[in-house]
This record gives sequence, C-alpha cells and structure tokens, in this order.
Amino acid sequence: MRWSQFYLYTTREVPNDAEVVSHQLMMRAGMIRKAAAGIYTYLPLGWRSIMKMMDIVRREMDAAGAVELMMPAIHPAELWQETERWDAFGDLLLKIKDRNQRDFCFGPTHEEVVTDVVRRDVRSYRQLPLNLYQIQNKFRDEIRPRFGLMRAREFLMKDAYSFHAGADSLGETYEAMRAAYCRVFEDCRLEYSLVEAQSGTIGGSASHEFMVLAETGEDAVVSCPACGYAANVEKAEARPLAAAAAAGDQEELTEVSTPGATTISEVTDQLQVGADRLVKTLVYETEEGPVLALVRGDRDLNEAKLASYLGAQRLTMAGDEVVRRVTGAPVGFAGPVGLSPEIRRVGDQSIRQSSNFVVGANKADAHFTGVNWGRDVDLSEWTDLLLVTGGDGCPRCDGTLELHRGIEVGHIFKLGTKYSEAMECTYLDDQGKSHPMTMGCYGLGIGRTVAAAIEQNHDEDGIIWPLPLAPYEVLVIALNTRDEQVVELADRLYDQLQEQGSEVLYDDRDERPGVKFKDADLIGIPVRLVIGAKSLAGGQVEVSLRRDREKILVPIENAVERVLELLAG
Ligand SMILES: [Zn+2]
Repeated sequence: MRWSQFYLYTTREVPNDAEVVSHQLMMRAGMIRKAAAGIYTYLPLGWRSIMKMMDIVRREMDAAGAVELMMPAIHPAELWQETERWDAFGDLLLKIKDRNQRDFCFGPTHEEVVTDVVRRDVRSYRQLPLNLYQIQNKFRDEIRPRFGLMRAREFLMKDAYSFHAGADSLGETYEAMRAAYCRVFEDCRLEYSLVEAQSGTIGGSASHEFMVLAETGEDAVVSCPACGYAANVEKAEARPLAAAAAAGDQEELTEVSTPGATTISEVTDQLQVGADRLVKTLVYETEEGPVLALVRGDRDLNEAKLASYLGAQRLTMAGDEVVRRVTGAPVGFAGPVGLSPEIRRVGDQSIRQSSNFVVGANKADAHFTGVNWGRDVDLSEWTDLLLVTGGDGCPRCDGTLELHRGIEVGHIFKLGTKYSEAMECTYLDDQGKSHPMTMGCYGLGIGRTVAAAIEQNHDEDGIIWPLPLAPYEVLVIALNTRDEQVVELADRLYDQLQEQGSEVLYDDRDERPGVKFKDADLIGIPVRLVIGAKSLAGGQVEVSLRRDREKILVPIENAVERVLELLAG
C-alpha cells in the first residue's frame, strides 16, 4: 500500500482524555477515531491489526472444534426477561424501542440469543456437545468509558457458547477452549497469565481469566512464583494470617476512651497497639438488610468474596445513617459487642484464632480492649473475606504471593444450567429423559487484546508491534521523493517485496525525512527499509527493526532477501 493512496493521518498531539499509552498511541498513530465517549471508528491502519487479531482467533476457534455463526446485535427484550437479566443487568444494558414501542436492547453478551437458537434445533444427547462462536460488536453502557479500546462502550468481542449433556462433557470443552486461548495469546506473542476468577454477573461454577500483564491494567492479580498459583485478587486466597494478639490469659473486657479516633491509624496511635490487634467491623447494606463483616484491622475486606458468600445481588458500604441505626454509633466506632443477634454478622476466618483484640464500642469516642470470641461476641459465620495482596503466603505451597497489574483479555466460564433452565433448553438422554443442557461460555476481547499488545510493546516514540498483530510487516521509506533514482529504486523494492508476499506500507509521501522517521517510530511497523540518496551512492540501502532501531547497510541486490530473513526470524 502506498501511503499517498492510503487513509492514514498521524498527529503529534496527545489527546487530553487519553490516560493510558495504548489509547494515546492508537489515537496519535491514526488507528482509531472517537465518535462519542467509548465509541470509536477503526481507521484503516487500526482495522488491519484488528483483522489480524480476528484471523488468529478464528484459526484457533476452528481448530478447537467451535463453529462460527453471527447473531444479531439487537436483541428482543422477551429473551432477556426469560432469564431475568433485563432488570438484573442494570444500566449497563442499553435499552431501545422500535417504532411500535417494542423493547429491545443492544446486546452486551449473547447467552440468551444463542440459547434460543439451540433450544429450537437440538433435541437429543446425540446432537451434543456443540460449541458456537461469533466475532461481533457488543455494547455496554459503562458509567465511565475510558482507556480507548480497553474500556469502550461499543467493542469487538469473540464470544463462544458450548452446550453439553452433563458436566464431564463441559469439562472437556472447557479444557480445549482454555488451551485454544493460550495458543491465541502465544500466537500474538503476548506475556499473559491465566488466573482463577470470580464469575460475577455471568454466573456459573468455575471461571478463569486471561490477563496480559501491564502496569496500566485495571485488574490486580496475585501469583506464586514457586508453584504457579495465580488468581484475580477478587478471588485470590492466601495462607491463613497469623492470629491477631498473642495467646495467653483472657484479658478483661474494658471500655477505653478514644476521642475522635475514627480511623485505624488514629485508634492504634491512641491505644499504642498494632493495627493487627484491631478487628474492623464494616457495615454493609444488601437486599436482605444490613450485614456486619469483620476483618483484621490492618487488612482490607474483599467485597466480591462477601457478596459471593452472602449470595447478595447488591452490596454497598452503609452510610452514616444506616451505621447509626444498626450500631447506635457514628461511623468509625462500630463493633460486634452487645449488638442485637438479629443482625447478621460474618467474620473473616483469619481472625478466628484472635484473642484480646480491640473493637469499636458502638458509641462515639470509645473502643473495647481485651475482646474475645465466645465470651464477648457470639459469631457463628466464618468464611474467607480477606483481600489478598503481595507478600501474603501462597495457599498451595509455602511460597509468597506477588502482586501484578493485568488487563483482562479473555474470560472463560462454566455456566452450568443457569440459562438452559431459565429458557428450557433441554435434551433427551438415552433413556428418553429430559434434562437442561450444561453450558459454558468463552469471551475474548479483540480490540482490547490489540490495545493490551501496545501496552506491553511500546517506547517513548511509539508502538513496537509484535509481528503477528502489526498492520503491515514492512515499511519502505523513500527519503527524497524528488530524487528520481531514489523513487525508482524504492518503487522496485516495494514491488519485489509485495511479490514475495510481504505486507508492505510504502511511505512515498513528499515529506521531510524527520517527519517520515517520526511517523515510522509512531506506527511501529516491525521491519523498516530506507532508501536515500546517500546510501544509494554507495550501492546500499538501510534495513532496521523497530524494536532496536539498529541500522544495517545492505547491498541493494540483497535488500529484499535481508528483509525476508528478518520477517522469518
Ligand atoms: Zn505457591
């Protein structure tokens, strides 16, 4: 492709709403253009990388036995009402009406539509398992779209849905998809991590996320370098913490004055104890009423674990009014001693062995010291509520967990029968008995993976494409397009490379060399071939890789061969 005939306009300006590198570089490199918040045009250069990503995904999905179809972007409300997600999905679901005032939504995910397809065609266990996928635009009405393609409202995603006669068959397909995803991210030459994850609003029994590791990632993951355990912190477990406070005789329960001490550090300062001697009492509101959650004073509570334990759809930190109603005290002085047994309370298992600890006294400016389970507090519900962090012990071995940031690029779920039961998607077994099909679903962000590749592969001058996702493989630069000899040779090498099957972008613009080199660094094409009057006089051209920019002078007659070698290597 000749640049002069292409649609590619770079810019030096960093757009002021672009917070992360991939967003900045994709805008500056003329790959995407914002149409509205979180809604983008993929410009021709960007679309080429997106298409390469789609090709890689298609190849691996087809190899894993999945079958491609294309479902509608617009879904009738009735299907979403069958699964009760019309309301449950909340404001993320973009609802629209047609001219007859019938309700529709712009699909954020396709469990309902695909289940409706399958329930009409599949009757017998003999037709199972099956695995259907598509690559399609989805829409989620994010409160705060940002980070360009990483958290867009309209985004391209590959989503697959598998249907099975039973859990064993689902297990086999789940493993096949997990392996296929690993191949996709390896094919893209990305550094990624496979982590255990929470199922969230999609539901189901097991799920894994594929994370591209990058400092700008929105997700935090922990991993153990010793045994390879890895999990999203929403889900991560850790070895039990050491008990707060040393064992020994039970102290007396004592109310102490802590004027104005509403934070952990204020309490520890006033009482001269470590934060691990405190037990925090957090008040949450759920659809079932208020719940108290107790966690060690120096640690954070994992709200995803609490919501999952309670089975709560809604979990929010209570405001001052509710805290006062439940505990009789302002925020900062809540505690479990002497509260009505009607109020549900759940303790983090890592404080179960604690003794002689400190809690709020349920009145302003006071705490209790010497608190002990049983004698002072009746607590019967214990579970893992700890927000795991770097430095915690690995739950699988005696290693130590490390904390990383990651970008979620893929997520696979074992759904079970949640959707097939709600939508009566059933099959007959070999005895003629009817069962709901067991389902799995498998998402992979197309644009997000391309953006994540940039987060992982760039320098201060621009993108450094991994070859498989590069919009073009080779950039041919004619340095002075007013020099006939330069143009003639550049034209010839461009033609020869194309004949050899290379994907070539040819910078034939009448621009200064400085502009061409800056643009070349910005758009990040892996191999560069520069033809200028100076080297031409010596019978040579200049070949370099974007990754190290080390220039090699190559005799003209060897130039094509050298470029092909670099691409192969
Ligand atoms: Zn480990």
